[in-house]
Amino acid sequence: MKRIAVLGSTGSIGTNCLQVLDALPERLSLLGITAHRRWRELAEQTQSFHPRWAVVTDESLSHGVDRAAFSSKSELLFGESGTERLCSAPEVDVVVSAIVGAAGLRGTWIALECGKTVAIANKETLVVAGPLVMELAKRTNATLLPVDSEHSAIFQALQAGRANEVKRIVLTSSGGPFRGRTLLQLQDVTPSEALAHPTWNMGPKITIDSATMMNKALEVIEAKWLFGLRDDQIEVVVHPQSVVHSFVEFVDGSVIAQLSPPDMRLPIQYALTYPDRCESIAAKLDWQKTFDLHFEPPDLDAFPALRLGFEVASRGGTCGAVLNAANEAAVERFLAGSLRFCDIPRACRAVLDQHQFDASPSLSELLRLDREARQEIARWT
Ligand code: NAD
Ligand code: MG
Repeated sequence: MKRIAVLGSTGSIGTNCLQVLDALPERLSLLGITAHRRWRELAEQTQSFHPRWAVVTDESLSHGVDRAAFSSKSELLFGESGTERLCSAPEVDVVVSAIVGAAGLRGTWIALECGKTVAIANKETLVVAGPLVMELAKRTNATLLPVDSEHSAIFQALQAGRANEVKRIVLTSSGGPFRGRTLLQLQDVTPSEALAHPTWNMGPKITIDSATMMNKALEVIEAKWLFGLRDDQIEVVVHPQSVVHSFVEFVDGSVIAQLSPPDMRLPIQYALTYPDRCESIAAKLDWQKTFDLHFEPPDLDAFPALRLGFEVASRGGTCGAVLNAANEAAVERFLAGSLRFCDIPRACRAVLDQHQFDASPSLSELLRLDREARQEIARWT
């Protein structure tokens, strides 16, 4: 029996994760959950799962929450200290890192410090501080398992050969809702158009990232640190069906892929039951139906965010933290109607080019640059 804590349990990954737990009660038990503001949904989750701890991370809500709505079996905690308690509890075996944005770094860091297994959906953690996070995991003998579908696919395909036999990995991208458009045709895209993703149903921030292809940029950086690759070993191909979740090409030219319908419950489950595989509630491919799989190279002129991803993966140092924070702030401004869609990568480029680069920053330096980049975006016109 593995005992699980889910950080960000009310989100898209979080709720999918609880479905997986619900389907595998003999293998997985839920010990703790966290949500930032949506405490009513968190309270409902405690009524279904009765976890030992439930954390509302937005401390300002501590007086507004109706405690009676929560299961009497769940202890209610507030703020960052609640998340810290959960992530360091000796009873917790696996922490699912499913908070959105750099806010997910803290809990992930603490779980790794305690030598736990972290199932990581929160790619921003690796974009911001990949080398420090990987070093920490190594030092404490903690295990990081990918949840992001592409990285789960790579992780699975890598098992077909040895690390020194890998030629390259190829991350697939759906291309988002604007695949095939030119830069000019992307000028006046609205938030509601950008929020309509063709294949995946996800939280708003990653959905906008998919529309700009910044999501794939972040995933290139995530893959570089997670798998210890050189940046020239990472390629991106557009694959609108989102069935092939990525490829590993070995030195002999053999290419191994992982396929399944777009359903996050599969990579979530694999990270939770690893190294075992078991029956899953995730959607399955139907081989009795005709279907096509299409692949095309990405258009870097229409989607300049992707170019930023390759650049940042290559430069490393402080670049990931700056790009990530600039993008988070720019996406917020776009959703609020104060920044145009095509200005998201432009603003990120400007903030990245201006920042004081350091090749081997400390965590506190990265957090300072994160704050500064957000302020730069707030001022950007
Ligand atoms: P979401 O917006 O649906 O959910 C985010 C969760 O994080 C919620 O539970 C929310 O309460 C919590 N949260 C938000 N801000 C917080 C803060 N400041 N402090 C603490 N908690 C906070 O997001 P999502 O789509 O589930 O994505 C979560 C993470 O997983 C992201 O890093 C995303 O890139 C990654 N991911 C998501 C998918 C997907 O299919 N949704 C796929 C791959 C990777
Ligand atoms: Mg992904």
